[in-house]
Amino acid sequence: MKIAGVKGMNDVLPGEVARWQEMEQVAREVFALYGYREVRTPAVEHAQLFARGVGEATDIVNKEMYVFEDKGEELLALRPEGTAGTVRAFIEHGAFVEGPQKWFYLGPMFRRERPQKGRYRQFHQIGCEAFGIAEPGIDAEQIALLADYLGRLGVTAELKLNSVGDQACRPAYLAELKAYLTARKAQLCPDCNDRIERNPLRVLDCKVESCQPVLDGAPRLLDRLCDGCRTHLDQVKGALDALGVAYRIEPRLVRGLDYYVRTAYEFTSDALGAQSAVAGGGRYDGLVETLGGPPTPGIGFALGEERLALILEKLGRAPPERRPAVFLVSADAAGAAEALRRAAELRRAGIACELDARGGKLKAQFKQAERVGARWAVVLGGAEVESGQAKLKDLRSREETPVALADLATRVRG
Ligand code: AMP
Repeated sequence: MKIAGVKGMNDVLPGEVARWQEMEQVAREVFALYGYREVRTPAVEHAQLFARGVGEATDIVNKEMYVFEDKGEELLALRPEGTAGTVRAFIEHGAFVEGPQKWFYLGPMFRRERPQKGRYRQFHQIGCEAFGIAEPGIDAEQIALLADYLGRLGVTAELKLNSVGDQACRPAYLAELKAYLTARKAQLCPDCNDRIERNPLRVLDCKVESCQPVLDGAPRLLDRLCDGCRTHLDQVKGALDALGVAYRIEPRLVRGLDYYVRTAYEFTSDALGAQSAVAGGGRYDGLVETLGGPPTPGIGFALGEERLALILEKLGRAPPERRPAVFLVSADAAGAAEALRRAAELRRAGIACELDARGGKLKAQFKQAERVGARWAVVLGGAEVESGQAKLKDLRSREETPVALADLATRVRG
């Protein structure tokens, strides 16, 4: 019986893995330059964590979360995002006593969305969280980190920036927005109608074409920010200018939950089509407290690796896969035994090499050498074992040169 993979959950095959390794390797390098340290948290958490930490009113929790009862004992969930678990770990291990912390994570997330290009049910995020700093300098630094990371991968993405206000200025704005939207219900899609009461800010995020005229005309929080939020935004902008990071103010960019405050940002790429966001982030000063920790400001982002991989693929940039340097071809039984020994020796010296364990005809072995992309081939048989001398064949130029087996590692290195 053939059993297929689960819909919306993808394999990354060996030929594509080099790209994933590059994305993750560059992330580790760049994040370290900014002092972010890796944290690894479980893929499974109490469902309650996401209900509180992401919000019951969100689609992520309400509609898309994979929830299951663990042998009738507790309600668990596959994590739909990385921030809640990271914050839980931050609180649970008392990390806040050490002052401000910068952490990053990477790994699979799960959402039962309708699969389409750039949207999957298991996908991978790389995310950064900075805890303990309320000042705008950290916002700008984190945004610059993300711009730096994308730049290193050769990706150009547009940075959209906004402020979602705070408890001082948002409530009055929400009331105004609700009244505006309620008066225009008939012109809005069912999803928008659904959100007007539950999560009116999210209505602004709607991509449905027919909703756009109403949303374009909606009152803008950006014009109603309190002094604190206005100054914060101005300072983030000033710091980004100083760092040479270009941005576009996007008044309709939102994070839909109450504990999100002030800075919201997103990087988008035209290369992605409809699902254009490659990464999104924002300040969540109330979240640590909501999840039972001491009041601790925070700001974070998550980047989608599948989407980044799509962009890199479109750019046609494929990092080289590691190919074996040498292929040891065996001409007879003595040669096969020697090939095994020499292969072990070369690998100990850090040189990738392969042999065809099936043995077989020389021609077939050479074919295998080409197939795996080896640079050199050496034929080993009784005569070579006895003399300690063999021929080193350059599989690109097809030239053959004599080589002492003892010198093989030195000759093929590099
Ligand atoms: P979010 O956690 O929804 O703010 O998403 C952050 C980033 O994760 C997005 O910008 C996407 O790049 C990526 N992402 C979110 N949901 C999915 C999904 N279902 N499939 C693939 N990537 C996703």
